[in-house]
Amino acid sequence: MLPRLFNACLCCLLLGLPAPLLAQLQLRVGSYDNPPKVISNAQHPLGGIFGELLEEIAQAEGWQLHHVPCQWQECLQALQDGRIDLMPDVAWSEERSRVMDFHATPVLYSWSQLYSRKSQAAQSLLDLQGARIAVLQGSVQQHYLAEQLAAFAVQAELVPVASLQEGFNLARDGQVDAAVANFQYGNYQARDYQLHSTPIMFMPARLFYASAKGRQAGVLNAIEARLRQWQAMEDSPYTRILQRWTGSTAQPLIPPLLWWLLASLAALLLVSLAASAWLRQQVREKTRHLQASEERLNTILDTVEACIYIKDRQGRYQYANRKIAELYGMPQATILGLDDSAFFDSHTVAQLRDNDRRVLLDGQRIELEENLCMPGDSRVHVYLTVKLPLRNAQGEVIGLCGISTDISEHKQNQAQIHRLAFYDSLTGLPNRRLLQERLQHALAQQQRSGLEGALLFIDLDHFKNINDTLGHAVGDQLLMQVAQRLSSCLRQGDTLARLGGDEFVLMLENLPRERSRALAEIGTVANKLLGTLSQPYELLGQPRSSGASIGIALFSDAAGNPEDLLKRADLAMYEAKSGGRNTLRFFNPHMQAQLLARTQLEADMRRGLAAGEFILHYQAQVDVQGRVVGAEALARWQHPQQGLVAPGAFIPLAESTGLIRPLGRYLLQQACQRLASWQARPELAHLRLAVNVSMPQLHHEAFVEEVLDCLQHSGAHAAGLELELTESLLAEDTERLIERMQRLRQHGVAFTLDDFGTGFSSLSYLKRLPLARLKIDRSFIHDLLDDPNDAAIVRTILALGRSLDLQVVAEGVESCAQHQALVEAGCTLFQGYLFARPDQPERLEQALMAQALAQFKPAERGE
Ligand code: C2E
Ligand code: CA
Ligand code: CA
Repeated sequence: MLPRLFNACLCCLLLGLPAPLLAQLQLRVGSYDNPPKVISNAQHPLGGIFGELLEEIAQAEGWQLHHVPCQWQECLQALQDGRIDLMPDVAWSEERSRVMDFHATPVLYSWSQLYSRKSQAAQSLLDLQGARIAVLQGSVQQHYLAEQLAAFAVQAELVPVASLQEGFNLARDGQVDAAVANFQYGNYQARDYQLHSTPIMFMPARLFYASAKGRQAGVLNAIEARLRQWQAMEDSPYTRILQRWTGSTAQPLIPPLLWWLLASLAALLLVSLAASAWLRQQVREKTRHLQASEERLNTILDTVEACIYIKDRQGRYQYANRKIAELYGMPQATILGLDDSAFFDSHTVAQLRDNDRRVLLDGQRIELEENLCMPGDSRVHVYLTVKLPLRNAQGEVIGLCGISTDISEHKQNQAQIHRLAFYDSLTGLPNRRLLQERLQHALAQQQRSGLEGALLFIDLDHFKNINDTLGHAVGDQLLMQVAQRLSSCLRQGDTLARLGGDEFVLMLENLPRERSRALAEIGTVANKLLGTLSQPYELLGQPRSSGASIGIALFSDAAGNPEDLLKRADLAMYEAKSGGRNTLRFFNPHMQAQLLARTQLEADMRRGLAAGEFILHYQAQVDVQGRVVGAEALARWQHPQQGLVAPGAFIPLAESTGLIRPLGRYLLQQACQRLASWQARPELAHLRLAVNVSMPQLHHEAFVEEVLDCLQHSGAHAAGLELELTESLLAEDTERLIERMQRLRQHGVAFTLDDFGTGFSSLSYLKRLPLARLKIDRSFIHDLLDDPNDAAIVRTILALGRSLDLQVVAEGVESCAQHQALVEAGCTLFQGYLFARPDQPERLEQALMAQALAQFKPAERGE
């Protein structure tokens, strides 16, 4: 009580009030015009329901009221700032109750209602879409209405006004579509403003006097007591005031329609609020989920070490992850919309487009390796790529998604691993493992083809000495030099391997089936190896010699078993070592003997060649009339011990050892001299001389010059010379061969295709060769009368000759019957024992000189 009194005194002092009034409580009351509840004007500083009621209470309580005029919003502020003590006509709200005090019994019940110029304008809240609505600034209606509109998603503009009067003015002038007012004010004033109430009612409110929080508890208690008392009485100041202002003694009840409206609105609102809250929650949740998963996805896509992209049907990038941006050297956003031609060379682009097309056209997932070449980077990157089609809801392919992983390093590692696993690191040659694999394969191949093969086991002599005395580094150098030399002796398809230490193995494949011929080839290669390995090596700046021992096993020796074969070659190598080093040994003793014989023969031939033991015999060739038109020169070896040796015994060896070149040249010289001597004698001048030429001769680049040389030295005319080639000669390096033949042909030298019908010839090929004659192989003539096939072949060759405009010679004609048959078939040239055996040239010459042509008449001879 003391502080209140003190307060009151202080107020009096401040207000400068006279001393007798000191005992009276001074109350500053905010007053504004809101008829009929509150009226504040010049005549009535505080009137209306609230004003008059307060005057009555003040009088009863002995309070002195001071009216402080203000606008609604200012009044509220003044109350809180302590500039006024009491405000009439304040609706209770949760929010206000935090800053204001209220008494308990409402003075009036009220609600808000919308007023507009046309009463039919709006029937419900939903009709307010797009409307402008005047509402008291800072009022609970403003807040409430804004929330309601938002809750129903109605877009309306709330126009704040300082007073209800202003709001109604705006509504009347059409500047807003409606104005919000409490129904008391609205019903009281609407008509003056030509406004009508709308059925839009909301926010039932209880109206009180209010004070600032904790300031006027006593005043409010007194008001409460009076109200309770007066409302209970039939006739009281309260009922009289109500009667005067509203025509009713009871305070107005809220109309049932409003309750109903409010209830359904509230229910609707609740449902809609709940639904929208739930939806919002769901959307928030989903959005958060989506965002989170998008972020997660992006993090994953951008951290993986693979290029991930999406392209549309035109190959334009629609998505590219960070890895691609790094690879292409531009930001992700810049890549979008571009295609591969912006990043790669044309070859790579074509490759990528091909792959993309497969996915887009076939709609298939593909997995493959792509080789990418980036501009400005010479390295080719290998990518393992998976591409899958992307489809729309209709199932049409609208693009593709690709994932490419750079596996270049992996590939290099693989290659490196392969190298380490299968190759010797010092020499780079295949190692034992790879050799075994290839050997296995080669043996299987041999079983199918029947062709021979061989394993040459090569071991350096005295390698251990070099290694021990000069050190391992020098040993390694030697091994590298050896590997180089061995490699230089390889033919295509041969495999050279290093087994370790100083052991090398050479595998030869596709050798002739015939053992002797295979042996010849093996011997040639082996001797070549021994020859090259025995040359001095340069080690530490010094020349050093070291030979090698070679053990040889043939594929047919070990019947398809790689291990056995290696063992046998190894064994043979030990034999070679114990046989005095720098030598070779066959595992097969028979082969060994054969090789020995060949080696001796070769040495013998070299000697024989130097000693002039090789001579030519001549066999006549006759025409249909039996006239000698030429002769074939056939080689013979006049051996000091063995007598006259036939060419079959030495020509193949000469061919495989390379001796054929000096031998062939020597024989050609002899033949040219003979030809020159015939050309010098009128009776013999018409004779042609045929000389056999072997493959290694013809394939030698100096061959043309050698022939021309022989002709020139001997003085023979090229027109008399004829070279006989066999079909097998023609298989290799055809272009160069044809060119050589043409050059000789231009000089007048003629060519005959020997042993025709036994080898391989194609017609197109025959046409291109500058040939003069075909020589039917003597095997067909031999069986001409007995074998209808051979007879057919002979006739075919004759027909072919006619069509190609080539003469055909039949060789090996031994009987009159054969001759007869050939003549009947249209053959015009013959050679064979029937006419003459190969013999010393003098015989042929004598016979011709003696004009003994009649003797050649076939009919009178015969076997
Ligand atoms: P070729 O070129 O087919 O020679 C014809 C072979 O048939 C010759 O054997 C010849 O004596 C033989 N002959 C001729 N008429 C008859 C006959 O009526 N009946 C039978 N059964 N055989 C007949 P030759 O002289 O033993 O020569 C064998 C092969 O040696 C030649 O076959 C040729 O390929 C080759 N040759 C001979 N001399 C030389 C040469 O100087 N250089 C080269 N590179 N090879 C030669
Ligand atoms: Ca011949
Ligand atoms: Ca022949």
